[in-house]
Amino acid sequence: MPKINIYDYDKIHNINEKRVWELLIQLIENDDTICTCRDCILDIVAITLNNIPPHYQVSEDDFSEAYKKISDEGILSELLTASEIVKKHPHHL
Ligand SMILES: [Zn+2]
Repeated sequence: MPKINIYDYDKIHNINEKRVWELLIQLIENDDTICTCRDCILDIVAITLNNIPPHYQVSEDDFSEAYKKISDEGILSELLTASEIVKKHPHHL
């Protein structure tokens, strides 16, 4: 038997993923040209997350260390780039 149960450790979060989702909501509210279907949103988030540094932590109280790695403006810029890629090559039918 393993000494730990890996399913007991779901408290670890990529804070920068949370920031991507929150900033994506802002972006969509201000840009009607972005398709909001499930396929396009998932592609935009996947591309963005692959292009920004992750920041994992257990507590969600303090995001300051995550901000040291990338600013909101930096994430928004990556989201914009990703949305342009998805607009050109959408996977939706
Ligand atoms: Zn779409």
